[in-house]
Amino acid sequence: MATGKINVSVENIFPLIKKFLYSDHEIFLRELISNATDATLKLKHLTSIGEAKVEYGNPKIEIKVDKEGKKIHIIDQGLGMTEGEVQKYINEVAFSGAEEFLDKYKDSAKDSGIIGHFGLGFYSAFMVAEKVEIITKSYKEEPAAHWTCDGSPNFTLVKADKEERGTEIILHVAEDSTEFLEDAKISELLTKYNKFMPIPIKFGTKTETLPKPEGAKEEDPAPTKEVENIINNPTPAWTKQPSELKEEDYKGFYRELYPTQFEEPLFNIHLNVDYPFNLTGILYFPKLTNDLNVQKDKIQLYQNQVFVTDNVEGIVPEFLTMLRGVIDSPDIPLNVSRSYLQADGAVKKISSYITRKVGDKLASLFKNDREEFEAKWNDIKIVIEYGMLSEDKFFEKADKFALYPTVDEAYFTFEELQEKLKANQTDKDDKLVILYASDKVAQHSYIEAAKAKGYEVLLLDSPIISHLMQKLETSKENISFARVDADHLDNLIKKEEEQISKLSDEEKETLKKDLEETIKDKGYTIQLEAMDSSASPFVITEPEFMRRMKEMQQSGGGGMFGMGNMPEMYNLIVNTNHELVSEILNTKTAKKKERLISQSLDLARLSKGLLKGEELTNFIKRSYEMVK
Ligand code: ADP
Ligand code: MG
Repeated sequence: MATGKINVSVENIFPLIKKFLYSDHEIFLRELISNATDATLKLKHLTSIGEAKVEYGNPKIEIKVDKEGKKIHIIDQGLGMTEGEVQKYINEVAFSGAEEFLDKYKDSAKDSGIIGHFGLGFYSAFMVAEKVEIITKSYKEEPAAHWTCDGSPNFTLVKADKEERGTEIILHVAEDSTEFLEDAKISELLTKYNKFMPIPIKFGTKTETLPKPEGAKEEDPAPTKEVENIINNPTPAWTKQPSELKEEDYKGFYRELYPTQFEEPLFNIHLNVDYPFNLTGILYFPKLTNDLNVQKDKIQLYQNQVFVTDNVEGIVPEFLTMLRGVIDSPDIPLNVSRSYLQADGAVKKISSYITRKVGDKLASLFKNDREEFEAKWNDIKIVIEYGMLSEDKFFEKADKFALYPTVDEAYFTFEELQEKLKANQTDKDDKLVILYASDKVAQHSYIEAAKAKGYEVLLLDSPIISHLMQKLETSKENISFARVDADHLDNLIKKEEEQISKLSDEEKETLKKDLEETIKDKGYTIQLEAMDSSASPFVITEPEFMRRMKEMQQSGGGGMFGMGNMPEMYNLIVNTNHELVSEILNTKTAKKKERLISQSLDLARLSKGLLKGEELTNFIKRSYEMVK
């Protein structure tokens, strides 16, 4: 029998492990199953190159919970360890056998999928166990070994009589960790971390319903059978080649990933590179709503089919965190902080590769099936607009397929839009003015007025669109966006010919005074304009600049500091060429004049959705009086 001290430089590494090494105690199971998987994959490799002359068979890993005995067993049929190997790989902490194996079999084993890296995984067992046993039998002709350690640096190592090849790890669960003796808890962990690991993992049995035998009666119960409960799918879709997969397989895998999600994904992107870094995965575009925050944390990060985290911040660009799916890469360093991660060269390359692939996929969808792309636009626009705002490379690409829908549901790219609007919406300073609405219902009267002049009106309603307009205005030449209610149309798109005012300067002076007297407390800036006599007499507008800054502030950053809290600013435009306005001017009785002004103002407010509460009640009362 050998006894001795585990060779570590720090005398008391165990309390350290328990407290600091992993903040998440539950990962012990992931680590031990990873080791069992590695041991199996190593054996597979050694048999395939003829170095191990044993039958590989159909090995699996078994997890058993002995609640009474307060033990968890992890049993594999992998290559096992000799006594000497236990000495070397277990007693010399922080000496990673996985790394040594990969080093030794560099060329032949680089695609073997071996997980281990840091040489501390095994000791994570002590986060939940007060005592750990290893009973292991190597594939080599040597007796089995039995290692025991109670959490102090002292261990014992003796021969054992285990006959079958492989390793059994026994955890004697500590008092403070008995939650891990619950089947439900272990099930939860297995589904979270091991659902797609490459070697079948058995946890107990389950009842399977068999087809009824022929001639069985309606009321006879279907026969059942107890079968092994295999908790994982060892060959998930992302490990296959895109050519092996059909649309249905991608959808099926989505359901496997998100069993509670009923909505189907819009489309998927299969990631697959092995140079200059290794990365596979499948990303899905889900249907998105306008709520940006609830949609994150849906991409799962794996390393060699072991779940690591669902927080991919720093690994994929922010705008893509709204997607779903899986990324698997052994090249992402995870033992570093997130801020370091963002600065890491390999991670930067991964991030820009993913961005490029997403851009390419969208471009090809746009090119190959524009109709379909248009139909999906409203569900994907947030991601694309967000990407255009945050990644210049993506902007360049997306500028060719990003769509700008009109209120009548015609979709234009920016270039098409420029072409379409050029003739009618270029102002006298040669600037192209793009009119838009953010709400078809609320801005109905303004939209109609613009259409009456033959203008196109876009419907731009995503929450970050004001930021994108700002960016387009600065990156393109001579264009500007204006919401249909930002001013009256002749001011929004100024043409050479000016409308002639029916009123003299003197009359205007009087009119202005009359208006101010009646509506002085309402906070509108009055603006007299000579417009078409058919245009509305009173119109309320909301200047573009202030409103947009305010919106940008509210949707985060970009705008001017403090704007979000500014009150709304409205102008009242009075059309001096309208008959009603002449009537106001020419009315002699003060009472009637006041009524005409108030009623007109209320109508303008009504059409902008600003008339509410008591003022609305009064307006309705007054109107009934008038229709009598
Ligand atoms: P890593 O997996 O990063 O190499 P670990 O601390 O998890 O580090 O494991 C240390 C070493 O112990 C492994 O590299 C392997 O050689 C050996 N080992 C651990 N578990 C097993 C097992 N179930 N079967 C065979 N060898 C194992
Ligand atoms: Mg390991």
